[in-house]
Amino acid sequence: MPGPAPFADALSRFVFEEAAVRGALVSLDDACRDILACHPYPPALARALAELLAASTLLASTLKFKGALVVQLQGAGPVRLLVVECDADLNLRATAQWNREADILPADAPLALLAGDTARSRLSITLDPKDGGPISQGVVALDATSIATLIEHYLTTSEQIDSRMLLASEAGRIRGLLMQRLPGATATDDATWERASAEIERIGDDNLLAAGGVETLLAGHFPDDDLRLFPSRAARFRCNCSLDRVASVLRMLGRTEVETILAEQGLVGVTCEFCNRPYTFVADEARALFERRGAAEGAPHGGLKH
Ligand SMILES: [Zn+2]
Repeated sequence: MPGPAPFADALSRFVFEEAAVRGALVSLDDACRDILACHPYPPALARALAELLAASTLLASTLKFKGALVVQLQGAGPVRLLVVECDADLNLRATAQWNREADILPADAPLALLAGDTARSRLSITLDPKDGGPISQGVVALDATSIATLIEHYLTTSEQIDSRMLLASEAGRIRGLLMQRLPGATATDDATWERASAEIERIGDDNLLAAGGVETLLAGHFPDDDLRLFPSRAARFRCNCSLDRVASVLRMLGRTEVETILAEQGLVGVTCEFCNRPYTFVADEARALFERRGAAEGAPHGGLKH
């Protein structure tokens, strides 16, 4: 295996050279803390969002895509919505909507408690090319005890790839491990897969959080396997909101609505729901948005709600 791979805010993929089994490890430290610092998330939400951040990054490791991977958990209880976006360069951002019941949940509240009525809750995984091209989406019911088992279920049923995922978090950092058996399995693949998926159980949360690096973790748990580790890729918190995107949202909102806001407030203020950055348009600036003919057409999707 190549030299030490950074393990903080990085994604590392690996393959078993002699079996159709692959995996990925992610560790989000500053990226996780920076994202969670954007909003006053109750502990149970912070943990769920951290898990969804790691799970989304691991999902991204399995895909070739441009644009954004958007993972949304819609609940009918304390959690209304958790959203994580991960782009092809592993820029991450997240947001959530919750009610006051979430404040008193224990940090390790199971998924069913967070989402409330699981029959009315769901997880959707969307690939948005962000270029106007077709959006693809997979949806699964929330019939799992944890985000890790939920994503496993999605990968196994929707993507038809046997998958195991381990997610472990503490103090605003999260680590995740994904193992997958690729199609076309032979007897050797079966044996390796059985061993690899059993080893995930042995690794467990504590070992995953304590591991000093990708190489040491893999060498310690798979000493007899020929593993190829690919160069790690950096992940980070980065929101792609901008004045232009907010302007597009206001144009879609329409002149009448914007005039109503101006009449009530004297200016138009929009706060990015992901990074909390405020954008302000004074009256002249807000009206200027509607002066160019056709400006309302072709507005890019900005990931902003108003
Ligand atoms: Zn933003």
